[in-house]
Amino acid sequence: MSNTNEKRPRSVTLKGNPLVCTMCKGDRFYVETVKIDPMVGQILNLNRSDVSAPSYVCAKCKHDHWFLG
Ligand SMILES: [Zn+2]
Repeated sequence: MSNTNEKRPRSVTLKGNPLVCTMCKGDRFYVETVKIDPMVGQILNLNRSDVSAPSYVCAKCKHDHWFLG
């Protein structure tokens, strides 16, 4: 069993504001980078080549806060 992918939740600041979970008001998040399929990127009208977006999963309730840039 490997723990190389173990992650610890941390506080996140976006554009100078601390990110707070919209569901439970939690302030600790697991940070992931989600790769967007280029086809999905087209559907979402993302006119750019870097098809990845940050995702912050609340450590308390697992609500996923996903940002498209
Ligand atoms: Zn939460």
